[in-house]
Amino acid sequence: MLRWSDFPNLVHGYSEAIDGTMAINGGFENRQHYLAQHGLRPAETVHAGLCHGTNIVVVTASDGGTIIPDTDGLITAEPNVGLAMTAADCLLISAYDPKRQVIGMVHAGRRGLAAEILLKFFQGWIEAFPSIASDCLVSISPGICADHYTVSKNDAAAFAQWPDACQKRDYDFRLDLRSVARQQLLTAGVQEGKMMFDSRCTFEDHALYSYRRDHPITPQLQVGYIVRKSEIS
Ligand SMILES: [Zn+2]
Repeated sequence: MLRWSDFPNLVHGYSEAIDGTMAINGGFENRQHYLAQHGLRPAETVHAGLCHGTNIVVVTASDGGTIIPDTDGLITAEPNVGLAMTAADCLLISAYDPKRQVIGMVHAGRRGLAAEILLKFFQGWIEAFPSIASDCLVSISPGICADHYTVSKNDAAAFAQWPDACQKRDYDFRLDLRSVARQQLLTAGVQEGKMMFDSRCTFEDHALYSYRRDHPITPQLQVGYIVRKSEIS
């Protein structure tokens, strides 16, 4: 079974609180500096201007250095084009098709997952490239765990089609983003053994920013990134 570490030219990861906030407003310079340290050049990196929707965009080198507005998923087949987006409890999901050399990243929180964003992400990917989801390696970022994610009855109802997505406890519901993500990835055709989950809970782990824990006045966000380098640096 292939692993991410089998591809040293593929660079991907997630920042931590110690790296500072990576928000578009109030942290973008820091984000570019941080990403450059990981080999993503500012002029070649494409950023998603998130909207908690399901818009997926295929990007090329000509999009480098820009923020694509109102999109929660980016895909590229071009080497050295970095993809970046932020979260602070939501999941960031990276994918790589080693056969066709395509990479992608998608932001998956409550609203996106309720709208089946992971299915739409792979539909967009497969429409654009002759990829097969079962070939893809998939990495799932830290995110808030079900114990710390209370949602309303109405919000819970949006997840009725995914078994074990929500559990009723006392007077409220707890939403398990990872469980929904895993189920949508399986439906999209991703193989279980090719999913790599980072089990850290953003709420519990103070090395990570958590919106629900901190309710910051200005956004404090992790950035996720992925790039396929044409040469190993
Ligand atoms: Zn937790």
